[in-house]
Amino acid sequence: MPRLPLLEDLGDVSGKRVLVRTDFNVPMEGPDNARVITDDFRIRAALPTINWLTSRGATVVCASHLGRPKGQPVDKYSMTPIRARLQELAPGVELMENLRFNAGEESNSEAFVAQLVQGFDMYVNDAFGAAHRAHASVSGPPKTLPSAAGRLLQREVEVLGEMRNHPKRPFIAVLGGAKVSDKLGVIEALLSTVDALVIGGGMCFTFLAAKGMPVGSSICELDQVAVCKRLLDGPKQIHLPEDIVGLDAEGNYATFGVRLPDGAKGLDIGPGSAAAFTDVIMDARTVFWNGPMGMFEDPRFAAGTKTVAQAVADTKAFTVVGGGDSAAALAQFGLDDQVDHVSTGGGASLEYLELGDLPGLAALRGAPNVR
Ligand code: ADP
Ligand code: MG
Repeated sequence: MPRLPLLEDLGDVSGKRVLVRTDFNVPMEGPDNARVITDDFRIRAALPTINWLTSRGATVVCASHLGRPKGQPVDKYSMTPIRARLQELAPGVELMENLRFNAGEESNSEAFVAQLVQGFDMYVNDAFGAAHRAHASVSGPPKTLPSAAGRLLQREVEVLGEMRNHPKRPFIAVLGGAKVSDKLGVIEALLSTVDALVIGGGMCFTFLAAKGMPVGSSICELDQVAVCKRLLDGPKQIHLPEDIVGLDAEGNYATFGVRLPDGAKGLDIGPGSAAAFTDVIMDARTVFWNGPMGMFEDPRFAAGTKTVAQAVADTKAFTVVGGGDSAAALAQFGLDDQVDHVSTGGGASLEYLELGDLPGLAALRGAPNVR
């Protein structure tokens, strides 16, 4: 397999026009025609790549998607506020209008690719969060332009690749979030490499149901119970919660064991489970965490996620956190600078761990400057 081309593989960039695919899909709020950026982290995260290029004399034009405008222009997803912020952070760097305003972006149309690369000499992909999508701006430009991975994309691939292929053991994965079905592919792939799996969040109820436990009104995917049973019968250890916190049938806050009464809803792992999970995380040498342990957006059900986040911050293990909600939880608890790597791509990090490659990486390896 040819290696991933890096910025150094572009050769002399001086005087060249470089199209940089960034992930400026930033959180915003406010009325549709006057949106305000609430966190510019993703814009700042692209600066190492942008500055590397501009300091060597390149002209940089960035392109990103924002939200889901479904192939046509809508005020809510205009790049205007982001362009203004980029001008402050990197004066002179341009930003195209939202890529998804054109239906050709998601359908990967040749005509849209031709329009995108028009007037450019080189292409850089620094949008790890979009690298799992074979969209026009991801797959198209490397077919004709000399191309490279930007610094953000490079670091993601180095960290996730090392963890996937040469983890220090014990390697454990802590998985949560709402649904098993969202993550079945990665669960199966992780089971072949990890030493143990820790399961919390909404998905634990499908596993508990597979062990014959009543789950009350908790989120539970009946069509996945058989799969979970097979995984539980497999050779790898799967740690499940031993206590649950949630709402009883009357809607009052309540604590349970792992047998939920009729009408009760499990919304977080209990303190005993959080303590047991902490022990597993402390004993590991590599930890991958994806998915909150409960409905942490509600402070009553944030404790399990907070305890696990603290353990991930405290352990001596090499720690990687992937997933938009997990990263948001980590930031909310002020622990995001205490882990080794917070992946900028939720779906992309899971797909990379599952398959070991992404469409956006394959496209770069096929670029004309790669021998
Ligand atoms: P990530 O974005 O980190 O990959 P997910 O999107 O898979 O995580 O899952 C996050 C969502 O899962 C959160 O909105 C959270 O409220 C929800 N969730 C976690 N535990 C439960 C639960 N027990 N019941 C319902 N929803 C839950
Ligand atoms: Mg999510």
